[in-house]
Amino acid sequence: MKKIVIASSNKHKISEISIKIQPFFENILSLSDFPKIGEIIEDGNTIEENSFIKSRASFFHTKIASVADDTILEVDALNGEPGLYTARYAGKRATYEKNMTKLLDNLYGVENSLRTARFRTVISYVDGENDFSVEGVLEGRILQKKVGNNGFGYDPIFLSTEYEMSLAEMDSKLKNKISHRGKAIQKFVSKVQEMQ
Ligand code: IMP
Repeated sequence: MKKIVIASSNKHKISEISIKIQPFFENILSLSDFPKIGEIIEDGNTIEENSFIKSRASFFHTKIASVADDTILEVDALNGEPGLYTARYAGKRATYEKNMTKLLDNLYGVENSLRTARFRTVISYVDGENDFSVEGVLEGRILQKKVGNNGFGYDPIFLSTEYEMSLAEMDSKLKNKISHRGKAIQKFVSKVQEMQ
Protein backbone atom coordinates (compact mmCIF):
# COMPACT_ATOMS: atom_id res chain seq x y z
CA MET A 1 0.00 0.00 0.00
CA LYS A 2 1.36 3.35 -0.92
CA LYS A 3 -0.82 6.21 0.14
CA ILE A 4 -3.37 6.86 2.84
CA VAL A 5 -5.34 9.91 3.94
CA ILE A 6 -6.13 10.43 7.61
CA ALA A 7 -9.57 12.05 7.38
CA SER A 8 -8.88 14.67 10.03
CA SER A 9 -7.26 18.07 10.37
CA ASN A 10 -6.57 17.56 14.07
CA LYS A 11 -2.75 17.58 14.41
CA HIS A 12 -2.78 15.47 17.59
CA LYS A 13 -4.89 12.73 15.96
CA ILE A 14 -2.86 12.79 12.76
CA SER A 15 0.42 12.33 14.60
CA GLU A 16 -0.91 9.61 16.95
CA ILE A 17 -2.19 7.54 14.01
CA SER A 18 0.62 8.25 11.57
CA ILE A 19 3.38 7.17 13.99
CA LYS A 20 1.78 3.72 14.17
CA ILE A 21 1.01 3.24 10.47
CA GLN A 22 4.22 4.76 9.10
CA PRO A 23 5.90 1.39 8.39
CA PHE A 24 3.07 0.39 6.05
CA PHE A 25 2.59 3.48 3.87
CA GLU A 26 4.97 5.48 1.75
CA ASN A 27 2.89 8.62 1.94
CA ILE A 28 0.57 9.63 4.79
CA LEU A 29 -1.66 12.58 4.02
CA SER A 30 -4.42 14.32 5.94
CA LEU A 31 -7.39 16.53 5.16
CA SER A 32 -5.11 19.53 5.66
CA ASP A 33 -3.60 18.51 2.29
CA PHE A 34 -7.05 18.72 0.68
CA PRO A 35 -8.57 22.03 1.84
CA LYS A 36 -11.14 22.00 -0.96
CA ILE A 37 -13.01 19.09 0.62
CA GLY A 38 -14.74 21.53 3.00
CA GLU A 39 -16.71 20.64 6.11
CA ILE A 40 -17.93 17.05 6.44
CA ILE A 41 -21.29 16.92 8.25
CA GLU A 42 -21.34 14.00 10.67
CA ASP A 43 -25.08 13.38 10.84
CA GLY A 44 -25.07 9.62 11.36
CA ASN A 45 -27.05 7.86 14.09
CA THR A 46 -24.12 5.89 15.45
CA ILE A 47 -20.41 6.40 15.98
CA GLU A 48 -19.73 3.82 13.23
CA GLU A 49 -21.91 5.75 10.77
CA ASN A 50 -20.17 9.01 11.62
CA SER A 51 -16.74 7.48 11.21
CA PHE A 52 -17.65 6.04 7.79
CA ILE A 53 -19.19 9.37 6.73
CA LYS A 54 -15.73 10.91 7.16
CA SER A 55 -13.65 8.11 5.63
CA ARG A 56 -16.06 7.75 2.67
CA ALA A 57 -16.16 11.51 2.02
CA SER A 58 -12.37 11.60 2.10
CA PHE A 59 -12.05 8.60 -0.25
CA PHE A 60 -14.68 10.02 -2.62
CA HIS A 61 -12.89 13.36 -2.79
CA THR A 62 -9.25 12.22 -2.86
CA LYS A 63 -9.61 8.77 -4.53
CA ILE A 64 -7.01 7.65 -1.99
CA ALA A 65 -7.57 5.05 0.76
CA SER A 66 -8.86 6.95 3.79
CA VAL A 67 -9.08 6.35 7.50
CA ALA A 68 -11.16 8.18 10.10
CA ASP A 69 -11.55 7.88 13.85
CA ASP A 70 -14.34 8.95 16.16
CA THR A 71 -14.68 8.77 19.91
CA ILE A 72 -17.67 8.90 22.24
CA LEU A 73 -18.14 8.72 25.99
CA GLU A 74 -21.09 6.67 27.26
CA VAL A 75 -22.28 7.10 30.85
CA ASP A 76 -24.61 4.32 32.03
CA ALA A 77 -26.50 6.40 34.62
CA LEU A 78 -27.35 8.89 31.83
CA ASN A 79 -28.57 6.24 29.38
CA GLY A 80 -25.42 6.49 27.27
CA GLU A 81 -25.08 10.29 27.25
CA PRO A 82 -23.14 12.25 26.09
CA GLY A 83 -22.77 9.69 23.28
CA LEU A 84 -22.81 11.32 19.87
CA TYR A 85 -22.76 14.70 21.66
CA THR A 86 -19.48 14.00 23.48
CA ALA A 87 -17.55 16.84 21.78
CA ARG A 88 -20.39 19.35 22.14
CA TYR A 89 -22.20 18.20 25.27
CA ALA A 90 -22.47 21.71 26.71
CA GLY A 91 -23.12 23.38 23.35
CA LYS A 92 -21.67 23.75 19.89
CA ARG A 93 -18.36 25.37 20.79
CA ALA A 94 -18.22 24.15 24.37
CA THR A 95 -14.82 23.95 26.06
CA TYR A 96 -13.58 20.76 27.72
CA GLU A 97 -14.20 22.50 31.07
CA LYS A 98 -17.84 23.24 30.24
CA ASN A 99 -18.46 19.70 29.02
CA MET A 100 -16.98 18.25 32.21
CA THR A 101 -18.98 20.62 34.41
CA LYS A 102 -22.21 19.65 32.67
CA LEU A 103 -21.46 15.96 33.09
CA LEU A 104 -20.57 16.35 36.77
CA ASP A 105 -23.76 18.38 37.35
CA ASN A 106 -25.90 15.75 35.62
CA LEU A 107 -24.36 13.06 37.81
CA TYR A 108 -24.70 15.06 41.03
CA GLY A 109 -25.73 12.74 43.89
CA VAL A 110 -25.10 9.53 41.91
CA GLU A 111 -23.00 7.16 44.00
CA ASN A 112 -19.64 5.84 42.76
CA SER A 113 -20.80 2.31 41.97
CA LEU A 114 -23.42 3.70 39.57
CA ARG A 115 -21.08 6.09 37.72
CA THR A 116 -19.81 3.47 35.27
CA ALA A 117 -18.82 4.73 31.82
CA ARG A 118 -16.74 3.89 28.80
CA PHE A 119 -14.91 5.55 25.95
CA ARG A 120 -15.43 3.98 22.55
CA THR A 121 -13.27 4.75 19.52
CA VAL A 122 -14.22 3.54 16.06
CA ILE A 123 -11.68 3.67 13.26
CA SER A 124 -13.07 3.15 9.77
CA TYR A 125 -11.12 2.46 6.59
CA VAL A 126 -12.39 2.91 3.04
CA ASP A 127 -10.55 2.11 -0.17
CA GLY A 128 -13.55 0.97 -2.26
CA GLU A 129 -12.62 -2.72 -1.89
CA ASN A 130 -11.65 -3.57 1.66
CA ASP A 131 -13.83 -1.29 3.74
CA PHE A 132 -13.89 -2.12 7.46
CA SER A 133 -14.03 -0.68 10.94
CA VAL A 134 -12.45 -1.60 14.27
CA GLU A 135 -13.30 -0.52 17.78
CA GLY A 136 -11.37 0.13 21.00
CA VAL A 137 -13.12 0.40 24.36
CA LEU A 138 -11.92 1.70 27.73
CA GLU A 139 -14.11 0.94 30.74
CA GLY A 140 -14.11 3.21 33.76
CA ARG A 141 -16.09 5.47 36.06
CA ILE A 142 -16.87 9.16 36.21
CA LEU A 143 -15.20 10.71 39.26
CA GLN A 144 -16.99 13.14 41.62
CA LYS A 145 -14.47 15.87 40.76
CA LYS A 146 -11.50 16.54 38.50
CA VAL A 147 -8.22 14.78 39.32
CA GLY A 148 -4.91 15.28 37.46
CA ASN A 149 -3.57 17.76 34.94
CA ASN A 150 -2.53 15.75 31.91
CA GLY A 151 -4.40 14.84 28.75
CA PHE A 152 -7.45 16.55 27.30
CA GLY A 153 -11.23 16.31 27.04
CA TYR A 154 -12.85 14.38 29.89
CA ASP A 155 -9.54 12.88 31.12
CA PRO A 156 -9.61 14.55 34.60
CA ILE A 157 -13.00 13.03 35.48
CA PHE A 158 -12.54 9.59 33.90
CA LEU A 159 -11.20 6.94 36.27
CA SER A 160 -9.58 3.88 34.74
CA THR A 161 -10.95 1.11 36.96
CA GLU A 162 -8.05 -1.12 35.95
CA TYR A 163 -5.36 1.34 37.09
CA GLU A 164 -7.40 3.16 39.79
CA MET A 165 -6.24 6.53 38.47
CA SER A 166 -7.78 9.22 36.30
CA LEU A 167 -6.64 9.46 32.69
CA ALA A 168 -5.29 12.93 33.52
CA GLU A 169 -2.95 11.39 36.11
CA MET A 170 -1.35 9.11 33.52
CA ASP A 171 1.62 9.99 31.37
CA SER A 172 0.89 9.89 27.65
CA LYS A 173 2.78 6.61 27.19
CA LEU A 174 0.53 4.73 29.62
CA LYS A 175 -2.61 6.45 28.40
CA ASN A 176 -1.87 5.67 24.75
CA LYS A 177 -1.22 2.04 25.66
CA ILE A 178 -4.47 1.43 27.54
CA SER A 179 -6.81 3.93 25.93
CA HIS A 180 -9.80 3.30 23.67
CA ARG A 181 -7.96 5.09 20.83
CA GLY A 182 -4.70 3.22 21.50
CA LYS A 183 -6.54 -0.12 21.34
CA ALA A 184 -8.43 0.84 18.18
CA ILE A 185 -5.19 1.96 16.49
CA GLN A 186 -3.56 -1.35 17.47
CA LYS A 187 -6.44 -3.29 15.88
CA PHE A 188 -6.26 -1.12 12.79
CA VAL A 189 -2.51 -1.75 12.45
CA SER A 190 -3.15 -5.53 12.66
CA LYS A 191 -5.71 -5.29 9.86
CA VAL A 192 -3.33 -3.24 7.72
CA GLN A 193 -0.60 -5.83 8.28
CA GLU A 194 -3.00 -8.58 7.13
CA MET A 195 -3.75 -6.59 3.97
CA GLN A 196 -0.08 -6.26 2.98
P1 IMP B 1 -13.11 12.85 18.66
O1 IMP B 1 -14.16 12.07 17.94
O2 IMP B 1 -11.80 12.11 18.73
O3 IMP B 1 -12.97 14.25 18.13
O4 IMP B 1 -13.56 12.99 20.17
C1 IMP B 1 -14.78 13.60 20.52
C2 IMP B 1 -14.70 14.16 21.92
O5 IMP B 1 -14.47 13.08 22.83
C3 IMP B 1 -13.54 15.11 22.16
O6 IMP B 1 -13.93 16.43 21.88
C4 IMP B 1 -13.27 14.93 23.64
O7 IMP B 1 -14.13 15.74 24.40
C5 IMP B 1 -13.65 13.50 23.90
N1 IMP B 1 -12.48 12.61 23.90
C6 IMP B 1 -12.00 11.89 22.85
N2 IMP B 1 -10.94 11.17 23.23
C7 IMP B 1 -10.73 11.46 24.53
C8 IMP B 1 -9.76 11.03 25.48
O8 IMP B 1 -8.84 10.25 25.19
N3 IMP B 1 -9.87 11.53 26.71
C9 IMP B 1 -10.85 12.40 27.08
N4 IMP B 1 -11.78 12.85 26.23
C10 IMP B 1 -11.72 12.37 24.96
